[in-house]
Amino acid sequence: MAAYTLAARQEFCTNTVIELTNCTDNIKIGAGHCTVIAGSCAVESREQYLPLAMELKHMGVHILRGGAFKPRSSPYSFQGLGEEGLQILAEARELTGLPVVTEVMDPRDLDKIYTHSDLIQIGSRNMQNYSLLKEVGMIDKPVILKRGLAATIEEWLLAGEYILAGGNRQIILCERGIRTFEDMTRNTVDIGGMALVKELSHLPVIVDPSHATGRRSLVAPVARAAAAAGADGLMIEVHQQPELAISDGAQSLTPEILRSLLQDINKLSSL
Ligand code: PEP
Ligand code: MN
Repeated sequence: MAAYTLAARQEFCTNTVIELTNCTDNIKIGAGHCTVIAGSCAVESREQYLPLAMELKHMGVHILRGGAFKPRSSPYSFQGLGEEGLQILAEARELTGLPVVTEVMDPRDLDKIYTHSDLIQIGSRNMQNYSLLKEVGMIDKPVILKRGLAATIEEWLLAGEYILAGGNRQIILCERGIRTFEDMTRNTVDIGGMALVKELSHLPVIVDPSHATGRRSLVAPVARAAAAAGADGLMIEVHQQPELAISDGAQSLTPEILRSLLQDINKLSSL
């Protein structure tokens, strides 16, 4: 028996489909097409985020992303706008009718984040933060669970099992690259691992080509590979002026690049 019994694909069990009803369009993740989540790494200001959100809505992005509480390697780097960022995300949701996702790092912020966002993200660094996993296991909102920087597939599925065991059945797994001996890309993206997890589990699996590669020029090729390999979705960082982005500018696409990538993704994901 697999150690992750609730996450495991059982005989005759149907795929989990996450439905988002609290938005203008009815969005289904895991229903056979590629859901696109896009936005800047961090919510930087109202002036930066709201026009971007509108532009993304018009090009057909399904879900907006934006960090309000940022897990930064250095304590001296921008840590996110916190509650002000959540307010801006709520405004973006109001303005566009699109659902929003943001990361929770601390269980003490969960109530506020729950109120302002439609999906909750557990970042790579917290994939094995078991107290946080237990907390999101008790809520009734979908959780995007990113693969840990150095987590095996089994550890990733077991982290999902914590959330499932708490009663929350709405989990989306996100492959975002793992740390290997290779340092010319930010991480090594495990497309084979993504495909394997779709065999092992009934949960939807998406890919984040931005954090996986760390380089703008590599985001589109990896996004196309993931879509062609059957990813249920993509999470992509976009910024109007990547050179001025407060975080992750080097891997952020411009809206123009994303627009043309979306056409490729639509073609590839229907293969
Ligand atoms: C993010 O998506 O904002 C992020 C920090 O990603 P990761 O946890 O994959 O590093
Ligand atoms: Mn980022």
